[in-house]
Amino acid sequence: MDAQLPPLQPGTLYLVATPIGNLEDITLRALRVLRECDVIAAEDTRHTGQLLKRFDIVKPLLSYFQFNEARRSEEIIERLRRGDKIALVTDAGSPGISDPGERVVKAAIAAGYRVESVPGPCALVAGLTAGGLPTDEFHFVGFLPHKSGQRRNKLESLKTIRGTLVLYESPYRIEKLLIEMSAVFPGRKVVLARELTKKFEEFLRGKPAELLAVIQKRPVRGEFVVLVGPGG
Ligand code: SAM
Repeated sequence: MDAQLPPLQPGTLYLVATPIGNLEDITLRALRVLRECDVIAAEDTRHTGQLLKRFDIVKPLLSYFQFNEARRSEEIIERLRRGDKIALVTDAGSPGISDPGERVVKAAIAAGYRVESVPGPCALVAGLTAGGLPTDEFHFVGFLPHKSGQRRNKLESLKTIRGTLVLYESPYRIEKLLIEMSAVFPGRKVVLARELTKKFEEFLRGKPAELLAVIQKRPVRGEFVVLVGPGG
């Protein structure tokens, strides 16, 4: 372990992981980078503003939404060119995993700038590790497309993948997903990891049809990581 704390480097993009529901999950290094950087590029400045307030951090915020991402990447690159130390955060978790961070990272690397990870919370890792399905081999899918036909095709294409499948899903589509999985993966073990790191964290385990029956009886809220065990 390197206990030394080198100063932040000019012209570097720091990918700072932030809590996915439990404020205690921010790392000491994340706090230092947020305190010492020149500017924080945030997915939602209001959301990040609350996090910063909680830790008494006052810092200029630059917003980058999915819609103006291309333009914001340019602004971030221009600031890197000027030598700024930039912390990039998303609403929750590790920037770059199923969020707009990926595009900024690609742009920064293509422009020749240094990108450093400041690792921490990530819903994928939290759900997979506590889910109880095999972790030696897994395939991260992220969000499925929204359109029914495309979802079905995507799920079908995943049938032959070895290892545990890991998906992200919103509460609005979890029932739809379980109906689709009952058709495509009827015999597989599924884990719904809900509200990870929060007060009402819950792991629901069963075959897709069993879980569908559970959530139809008791509507469940919150964000989900959905794990699908390997085929037999
Ligand atoms: N970059 C983030 C990460 O490192 O996990 C993920 C961003 S993605 C836009 C948001 C999705 O992550 C949610 O829709 C949900 O599927 C999952 N997620 C985030 N926080 C979660 C939590 N506390 N419990 C379960 N799933 C969560």
